[in-house]
Amino acid sequence: MALTLYNTLGRKLQVFEPIKENEVGFYGCGPTVYNYAHIGNLRAYLTHDVLARTLRRRGYKVTHVMNITDVGHLTGDDDSGDDKMVKSAEERGKSVLEVADFYTKAFFNDTERMNILRPTVVCKATEHVGEMIELIKRIEARGFTYQAGGNLYFDITKFPSYGDLALIKAEELKAGARVEVDENKRNPHDFVLWFTRSKFENQALVWDSPWGRGYPGWHIECSAMSIKYLGEQFDIHAGGIDHITIHHTNEIAQSEAATAKHPWVNYWVHNEFLILDKGKMSKSAGTFLTLPTLVDEGYDPLDYRYFLLGGHYRSQIQFSYPAMDGARNARKSLRDRVRLLAEKAGALPETGGATTLGDRAAAYLGAFDKALDDDLNTPRALAELWGLLRDTALEPAEALAAALEMDQILGLKIAEAASDAGGGNPEEDAEIEALIAERAAAKKAKDFAAADRIRNTLKERGIALEDGPAGVKWRHI
Ligand code: AMP
Ligand code: ZN
Repeated sequence: MALTLYNTLGRKLQVFEPIKENEVGFYGCGPTVYNYAHIGNLRAYLTHDVLARTLRRRGYKVTHVMNITDVGHLTGDDDSGDDKMVKSAEERGKSVLEVADFYTKAFFNDTERMNILRPTVVCKATEHVGEMIELIKRIEARGFTYQAGGNLYFDITKFPSYGDLALIKAEELKAGARVEVDENKRNPHDFVLWFTRSKFENQALVWDSPWGRGYPGWHIECSAMSIKYLGEQFDIHAGGIDHITIHHTNEIAQSEAATAKHPWVNYWVHNEFLILDKGKMSKSAGTFLTLPTLVDEGYDPLDYRYFLLGGHYRSQIQFSYPAMDGARNARKSLRDRVRLLAEKAGALPETGGATTLGDRAAAYLGAFDKALDDDLNTPRALAELWGLLRDTALEPAEALAAALEMDQILGLKIAEAASDAGGGNPEEDAEIEALIAERAAAKKAKDFAAADRIRNTLKERGIALEDGPAGVKWRHI
């Protein structure tokens, strides 16, 4: 069995072979922390999580690196528009670093609640400007740059394979079909490596450099940080499909220009978009949904994880509340099923193969692993989990043991559901029921403020209420 991944570079499925035996260097583009992550962004990080977990389950020592963009990202990836961080700080009356700090924490809060494991290395752009300057110096020394209007540009005509990743043809590269054409650029696809004050007078964070006091272009941070932590050539680079044409294309050009090594990265993994029925979600336009919004609507962050796992990462997924309801119900049945198995099994089996699986359970686990090996086919993997849990011919302990193995990748916290077997804490349950009764009385007396207060008190304790025709139900979130 071999892990196969769809490589955007070359547009084909390829058996994964690491550069170093048993080790994987993996870089996934991280968030620009000027606002909350939207649920589409979280799809990208879930994809990275499934990939890292799968690689680890296959026995690789994975170094997963993720950047935090806190400088240099303009609203247009092609150097057009405003500086996202500066604009957000101005709107909020805060400093850029305060904004970055706040949204970085919010980001990790979201990912943690979705059980997305922290990357091995998380690195901030503002803490790596020195490395960026050194890399740009190497690019310059090898003749790939020019200075114009105070900025330093990468000259794409000096890099013949520019556009290979995105399959951009030579004639398209010459066309100036850009929204905002920068007159300093010799070619429309040239991009900025280093900005001086020429673009924004109010730039908050600036550094001294051989090209003047200023700040780095957005793309250079990913090249500089990935090379620092993973070396000049590494295995996998991931991000959303929107990054193919500009960001990743530019990352390849500048990295290979600096090091003269080809290929910089062997496998490029890109996730498709999550879309709303209205179309694209946009942070800049303020039309986006966040994980806290879903929680306010009564969903558990793991319901959203389940929802995403139900689609293949290379297919577009349309978000809808009915689909989220489906995911929530499915996850509830999953927990009920696991709880029942745990009750029947008596004790929770230990993970890591302590319970030997018979052929029947092993076959489900084998099919599960095969589905993931097939370009991370999570919908099929979920189906195998369900097949296993529903198979009454299996010993409960064995079924549970296999389900726990599967959860190393699915991350649905199956062990927690199993350990809920036998019911929760009766005293706590009685207290919750009492508060629910109090809320019902407040509602009857039309004291809606008091009713809302009780709902919020429960929410702060991690209890969600669902009003339904059969009365109020509660559950842990
Ligand atoms: P950003 O913070 O805008 O740099 O985006 C963070 C990550 O989310 C990148 O990998 C993007 O490609 C990805 N992304 C942005 N929008 C979506 C979406 N609607 N669905 C899936 N991934 C997205
Ligand atoms: Zn990047």
